[in-house]
Amino acid sequence: MRDGRGALAERLDAAIEARRDDMVALARDLIRIPTLNPPGSNYLEICEFLDARLKKSGFETQILRAKGAIGDSDAFPRWNIVARREGARAGECVHFNSHTDVVEVGRGWSVDPFGGALIDGRLYGRGACDMKGGLAASIVAAEAFLEICPDFAGAVEISGTADEESGGQAGVAWLAEQGFFAPARVQHVIIPEPLNKDRVCLGHRGVWWAEIETFGEIAHGSMPFLGDSAIRHMGAVLAEMEESLFPALAQKRTDMPVVPEGAKQSTLNINSIHGGAAELADYASELPSACVADSCRMVIDRRYLLEEDPKEVEREIVDLLERVKARRDRFRYEIRPIHGVAPTMTARDAPVVQTVSRAVREVLGRPPEYVVSPGTYDQKHIDRIGRMKNCIAYGPGILDLAHKPDEWVGVQDMVDSARVMGRSLIALLSGDA
Ligand SMILES: [Zn+2]
Repeated sequence: MRDGRGALAERLDAAIEARRDDMVALARDLIRIPTLNPPGSNYLEICEFLDARLKKSGFETQILRAKGAIGDSDAFPRWNIVARREGARAGECVHFNSHTDVVEVGRGWSVDPFGGALIDGRLYGRGACDMKGGLAASIVAAEAFLEICPDFAGAVEISGTADEESGGQAGVAWLAEQGFFAPARVQHVIIPEPLNKDRVCLGHRGVWWAEIETFGEIAHGSMPFLGDSAIRHMGAVLAEMEESLFPALAQKRTDMPVVPEGAKQSTLNINSIHGGAAELADYASELPSACVADSCRMVIDRRYLLEEDPKEVEREIVDLLERVKARRDRFRYEIRPIHGVAPTMTARDAPVVQTVSRAVREVLGRPPEYVVSPGTYDQKHIDRIGRMKNCIAYGPGILDLAHKPDEWVGVQDMVDSARVMGRSLIALLSGDA
């Protein structure tokens, strides 16, 4: 007689518990490969490491370079790995996608950022939380599932991808263009980003970046009336933003469950602003010469909601610039979009959401919180290019620790989230309804 789901879940827990030290060692080995982005170091090394591990567990693997994609170069080639293990019978495919890159180290560390120190149940290092801990948990969850359910239906896939921290063009976007996330191939995607083990992340807000430039006329700084200051024109743009735009954005609230609370509205950040002569390097002591600025540039980072029309997001800024133009002599501007990503949110009744939620309830004894991320992650490519809607982020680690000094992931959080991932595999692939 076949095991029921409950008996399988018990065996899964035992199999994961038996692998606790192995999971910590795996996460530590991943942390010890410094896959810094920029510039994109050691991508091949981490793919080869994963390749050896997953082959041993019966996966067929492909190591793929996103040759020619944005970010790829001969000096820093963008390597990705996709591993697939076929089941004994036909069925659906569950795919775990983790990015292998980590952000710069920064200052303020009290431990070696690439040492993987284990202190009081916490594993430390750059990428421990975002997201090598999640990658290790998904691998161990899959391996435990394969041990207890060797005759499963469908397929399990695990990918390790490049460049999420810089947009993912040579990682998930490229794989999606090659068809790796086509609905015919993959039916459920879980991205083990560090959203906390008791939260299911349904998607993210949209992004629109643009550069605004105002123009003036150069003249001697002692006689500014002979020129026209692009910086003063930009000052008028800033004043108009304070006056009308920021209050309007605060009024735009979303029904998306975005966390933290402050991100439940439209936001705009001014990423940079520069006017006049080119800025000198930190070590140079010279002051710029006395000139009226003939150009001023500002980069804006607008985050928008599912309820907003992206065309309206752009028009709002153009309207603002036109209002300034109507009341200022000689005001000239250009606006250049840099890039945009549409908001995305998987439906709460989607199969992967329901399956993982049930598993969280079983493991933690309470239902998960549904959240939406304020910033984007690789789900955008899976949705837009892959046309794959049944996708969530779920993984161990505390989101607030990502990118910080002394980043860590809790060992028990990794174990618990592996139990959730393993149960999700049982539910979707064991064939026991
Ligand atoms: Zn991440």
